[in-house]
Amino acid sequence: MSETTQTVTHWIDGAATSGASTRTADVFDPATGQVARQVVLAEPADVDAAVASAKAAFPGWRDTSLAKRTQVLFAFRELLNARAPELAAIITAEHGKVLSDAAGEVARGQEVVEFACGIPHLVKGMFTENASTAVDVHSVRQPLGVTAVISPFNFPAMVPMWFFPVAIAAGNAVVLKPSEKDPSAALFIARLWKEAGLPDGVFTVLQGDKVAVDGLLDHPDVASVSFVGSTPIARYVYERGTANGKRVQALGGAKNHMVVLPDADLDAAADAAVNAGFGSAGERCMAISALVAVGGIADELVAKIADRAGKIRTGDGRRSCDMGPLVTKVHRDKVASYIDVAAADGADVVVDGRTVTPDADGGADNQGFFLGPTLLDRVPTTSRAYTEEIFGPVLSVLRADSYTDAVELVNANPYGNGVAIFTNDGGAARRFANEVSVGMIGINVPVPVPMAYYSFGGWKNSLFGDTHAHGVEGVHFFTRGKVVTTRWADPSATQASAGIDLGFPTNA
Ligand code: NAD
Repeated sequence: MSETTQTVTHWIDGAATSGASTRTADVFDPATGQVARQVVLAEPADVDAAVASAKAAFPGWRDTSLAKRTQVLFAFRELLNARAPELAAIITAEHGKVLSDAAGEVARGQEVVEFACGIPHLVKGMFTENASTAVDVHSVRQPLGVTAVISPFNFPAMVPMWFFPVAIAAGNAVVLKPSEKDPSAALFIARLWKEAGLPDGVFTVLQGDKVAVDGLLDHPDVASVSFVGSTPIARYVYERGTANGKRVQALGGAKNHMVVLPDADLDAAADAAVNAGFGSAGERCMAISALVAVGGIADELVAKIADRAGKIRTGDGRRSCDMGPLVTKVHRDKVASYIDVAAADGADVVVDGRTVTPDADGGADNQGFFLGPTLLDRVPTTSRAYTEEIFGPVLSVLRADSYTDAVELVNANPYGNGVAIFTNDGGAARRFANEVSVGMIGINVPVPVPMAYYSFGGWKNSLFGDTHAHGVEGVHFFTRGKVVTTRWADPSATQASAGIDLGFPTNA
């Protein structure tokens, strides 16, 4: 079965299957508004089958040498590299983002695969010789077992790749539950793993909705859960998963600010605000959604952004447009509703994306889920357009009198995923990086997504749990430590009995 056939299935035990699933959900082509295919939705029996297959595959994979595991990872990397354009096309067809953006997502995911190829170095333990007389100590890190990854719609390839390369490299089996809105990328990836030589059961795809998620959260054989999605579901997943004794990292929603100081290059700042605000139609967890103009620059900056926003070509992501549609009609309408909310609360609607004429097949009959770039100015901090995550191409401008006011605004926000500052003052930028309560900070960089060898994660309501994704923290999440204390007497020593001593052992 190929990714473009009518029903997207699970991938269990190295093969596509519909299992026990009887329910399905529509998967749309967001650029036309048409139902493109269906995805099966797991029943509890499918969760059991997926986890059982992963559990059975785990011991063999855990005991596969690092040399052999690494060979599979390198083979997967090569296949991903060769077939990246196909994967990007699958992403665009179901998510809607433009092809270049989809290719960028694959490339950023691939960087984590490349990081994970260095797993032998990353899981090296430590050794202490002669910690006590004839006693040595060493530490190892071992895999957890069956690890679950539950991902959102907005990065159907990259977000799963924040986790599964590291988890698999470390010797775990992975059950991926992708978003039901764009499920085909995960199946494509499963086939690449098989071709790369990964044993069946080490990488499983379980399609589904809440039934699948709850099944994984409650399953006694699932050791850990890596979740990415909206804040309410992240909190729920964290609470239910940890209550069941699992290790959980749950990355949530965001409201990312971009602070522009009066000394900044306003053209560069306007370019950055447009790219970071409207790229992927604002459906990025690191999108800039709130721009804080400090001092007297706001009018000039708003004019520059409005000018650029007016030149963006919104349309079908396959037609070389700048910005694609939103993922579903429901989401598009929800995002558009915030424009009225902001206006009612006193904001100025500088650019209204509802008036856009999309470039798409079918001309005026096109039912694609389009919303053009939208710019709101003077958005009150009490407006729901500011307090809630919109997750669409809506950029809100707020005005702050001073640097201090701007930092207070950012730090008062309940989210803490990403933030950017634009300035030519190194001292101000340095101070900002030190005192802002956010996990990922860009200085003249609007979308500061960390490289694979650092770790990705926010603060406050943007992350539940204490471990970020990939990098050293990712390796730590997918392994647990063991310390081995060993006594071997020297062959020349007399093997005298230590005698009976019930005191606590001390070193000598
Ligand atoms: P979502 O929370 O609706 O869904 C995420 C996952 O949870 C999906 O797999 C979905 O099937 C499942 N799910 C949805 N409702 C559920 C429920 N009631 N019970 C159990 N499982 C449920 O998120 P989304 O709309 O797919 O993705 C967008 C959100 O993800 C945004 O809030 C965005 O900020 C966030 N996100 C965060 C990051 C980050 O790194 N912090 C990255 C990407 C996306």
